Amino acid sequence: MTAKRFTATVVGGGVGGLAAATALARCGLDVTVVERAPRFAPAGSGLMLYPNGVAAADAMSSRLGRRLRESGHVIGPVEERVLLSSSGRVLAREHIGRLAQPDGTPSISILRTAAQNALADDALASGAEIQMGTVVSDYTTDNGPVSLQWSDGSIHSADLLVAADGIWSSVRKRMIGDGLPRYCGYTSVRSHTPGNWPWPHGFVANGNGVQIFAAPVGDGALYWTAKITAPPGTWPQLGSEAAQRALAELIGHWPAPIVQLITNSDPADVAVTDIHDRDPVSRWVDGRVVLLGDAAHPMSPALGQAANMALEDAVVLASTLRTHVVEGSRGDFSTALRAYERQRVQRTARVALLSRRQGLLDQGSGPLRSLLRNTTMRMRGRKDVALHEITRWSAPALAA
Ligand SMILES: Cc1cc2nc3c(=O)[nH]c(=O)nc-3n(C[C@H](O)[C@H](O)[C@H](O)COP(=O)(O)OP(=O)(O)OC[C@H]3O[C@@H](n4cnc5c(N)ncnc54)[C@H](O)[C@@H]3O)c2cc1C
Repeated sequence: MTAKRFTATVVGGGVGGLAAATALARCGLDVTVVERAPRFAPAGSGLMLYPNGVAAADAMSSRLGRRLRESGHVIGPVEERVLLSSSGRVLAREHIGRLAQPDGTPSISILRTAAQNALADDALASGAEIQMGTVVSDYTTDNGPVSLQWSDGSIHSADLLVAADGIWSSVRKRMIGDGLPRYCGYTSVRSHTPGNWPWPHGFVANGNGVQIFAAPVGDGALYWTAKITAPPGTWPQLGSEAAQRALAELIGHWPAPIVQLITNSDPADVAVTDIHDRDPVSRWVDGRVVLLGDAAHPMSPALGQAANMALEDAVVLASTLRTHVVEGSRGDFSTALRAYERQRVQRTARVALLSRRQGLLDQGSGPLRSLLRNTTMRMRGRKDVALHEITRWSAPALAA
């Protein structure tokens, strides 16, 4: 008799959903990803994958780990990120190469599109199916298979529903109902710019209520993110092109190459998003429905950890499912999902709250806070207070 193959539907084809698809398929589940967007469109800016996220990707699939290394910029052991004041004074040189894990697992800075393509290709190669242009509009669950309604009206059944539908998750709304995400007080304008820049290993430039982070993504190009303190809605309502111009004006007195980094970007690639997070919650499971990635623990981008946490989630969820569901066809979803929740809630809550705190420090809104941030960076020799501790994380092994 052949062992039963359990099925999983993953709602959302972002970093979290695609990673979950790969990890679950590798563990022997039949996986379908349902993504609202009609196709994977180029997505302007970049991502920092820190050693914890890279370790999670490696654990899912050595092919994925290799592809991410080939598609992005692997941070070498002696690389330094330059921390600057808005006048261009060097506050410190951060030894980002030292974040690598003792086994050599590095950080990778990568265009978001390249990361998404690598994840999508790996999900497909692992046997998952991806259904684009479809919304999961409703579900019902008890302790058995989940019944799902797709936007074309069709009804589908799956043994498990993984909700990786992002910060505005409709599944979370239904499961937890904890209102809207909370505005963090700043917006993000971001893109990437080809060229040869004076800081080949990236920089963080710090002004009053503005911080610009830049990191290499190959061929001399830098991806950049400007975080700007502002009332909600102010920057998104400008639209991409006007936001790019307004940012260039705002930092017009900063060193010329930083201004050029902004003005030389293709306006079509510029993204503008108000930054939100949520207070952590301890419940991510309802019957056989489970939250993952931003749907479970949306966090500010201040520590560059949200996608890394989604990668960690995926590999931990797959390992608990393998132990309690797949091995021996045990099918004990309840124990698997509780074990996942137990392993992930505390860690992600801590990182979300540290990110929130780091975001406030980073913005340096007002002369005193600006001075405090710049002094902290000078004294510590790094931008982030807690990043070194967070990136030390070991992935569970998934290989059979
Ligand atoms: C400015 C900024 C900079 C960032 N920088 C970093 C960084 O350097 N490092 C890092 O680790 N993280 C970073 N992040 C965070 C990171 O981008 C996200 O945390 C990460 O993409 C998590 O993705 P996700 O898959 O959980 O959600 P998302 O990427 O939001 O994906 C959710 C997907 O679900 C789909 N969807 C939603 N509802 C439905 C539905 N009902 N049916 C079907 N599909 C649906 C959406 O179309 C979307 O594709 C940054 C975020 C921002 C805003």
